[in-house]
Amino acid sequence: MKTSSYHYKTLKDSPSDAELISHKLMLRSSMIKLNASGIYTWLPLGLRSLKKVENIVRRNMDEAGAQEILMPMVQPSDLWEESKRLSEYGPELLRFEDRNDRSFVLGPTHEEIITDIARKTLNSPKDLPANYYQIQTKFRDEIRPRFGVMRSREFLMKDAYSFDIDENGMKESYGLMRDAYQKIFNAIGFDYRIVSADSGAIGGSASEEFHVLADSGEDKIIFSDDELFASNLELFGEKSDQEIIDQLHKKDGKKYSIKKGIEVGHIFQLGDKYSKSLSLSIQTSEGNINPLMGCYGIGISRIIAASIEQNYDEDGIIFPRSIAPFEAIIIIVGNDKNLLSEAESLKDDLTKIGVDSIIDDRNDSPGKKFKDADLTGIPFQLIVSEKNQKENLLELKIRSEGTSLKENKQNILTKLKP
Ligand code: ATP
Ligand code: MG
Repeated sequence: MKTSSYHYKTLKDSPSDAELISHKLMLRSSMIKLNASGIYTWLPLGLRSLKKVENIVRRNMDEAGAQEILMPMVQPSDLWEESKRLSEYGPELLRFEDRNDRSFVLGPTHEEIITDIARKTLNSPKDLPANYYQIQTKFRDEIRPRFGVMRSREFLMKDAYSFDIDENGMKESYGLMRDAYQKIFNAIGFDYRIVSADSGAIGGSASEEFHVLADSGEDKIIFSDDELFASNLELFGEKSDQEIIDQLHKKDGKKYSIKKGIEVGHIFQLGDKYSKSLSLSIQTSEGNINPLMGCYGIGISRIIAASIEQNYDEDGIIFPRSIAPFEAIIIIVGNDKNLLSEAESLKDDLTKIGVDSIIDDRNDSPGKKFKDADLTGIPFQLIVSEKNQKENLLELKIRSEGTSLKENKQNILTKLKP
């Protein structure tokens, strides 16, 4: 891959309506482009990061025993009538009719569809436990789409749904997903907290959210200094922050603090809310039962923005290696033909050790190339120049540390090997 034939374009300034740093940097580095309010195209650089997040999520879902499926985005309203959510969900649910006047909605979530599938496919206790997931576009007609892909109307979500015969089973499935989520958010390099949360429009009994700590977060979370207690502040009603802290401190004498968080994941114990309303039942030796469900969401597209909120400096994004669009960028400084062939052979070497890279072969000044590499947040910058070539050395700049070093190619490759 070469920048000259890739959509690797950067902007000096970001549109004035972008408030959040992640939104600004994603626009400036051409990861996304706006089509309509809350509706974006993912350009090549952004899509590479998005796919990396998808793959981390997919790998961990598969390892936890969930089966990947793909459900329709267009859902018949009848199913939403059955669950009673057609009237309960409110204006975030986009409704429309087809040419035969049949009513449909654009899926903001998929409990109805999965339960419809489950009632058609799960017929005996032997079919349980079952857990299905998908990575699919969701549509929510948000009242105030903003912050780029952080709160958009169309966005990518991973949603999983578990079915169990009894309460213990449901809790076990929930625990497996909770563990998988921790592995996912660790792999993405987040500083995050798991907090008790409100179940909102999804419903059910218990739920927990995964929050990335960031001053720009829209939610407030409260936790004790030993971190044994953590909750979304929304569970405490209309009280002031200080009142809530005082109330908790009085109970156990612990210190409490409040921080802002970005919700990147939400897991629910749903119970029989959907299996009952949509008549999913299974015959057991003790009679017919409604399987108990759990549902588990991750905001795939929001994760990119949340990661940037935690990883940037005045020069741009500092992506963690696991979700960077490329792990390395080979910057050619100079016009000598030799330099391009050295860059290409270096790229081959990197590919061999499992490092994905792009060559900056544009006809731009070195200054512009370095600036762009910093802006787009690619973790490793490798500089191929006539001077370095003469010394038989390779120069490596590590974006997250701001440090540079010069060594022979073999040593550098050893350093970069995953
Ligand atoms: P929020 O409180 O931020 O509106 P939610 O609680 O309505 O989110 P869930 O139904 O729990 O969202 O959806 C699962 C995940 O999908 C969320 O944890 C979040 O990461 C992501 N998500 C939800 N709404 C949006 C949106 N408008 N844009 C981008 N990601 C979103
Ligand atoms: Mg939520």
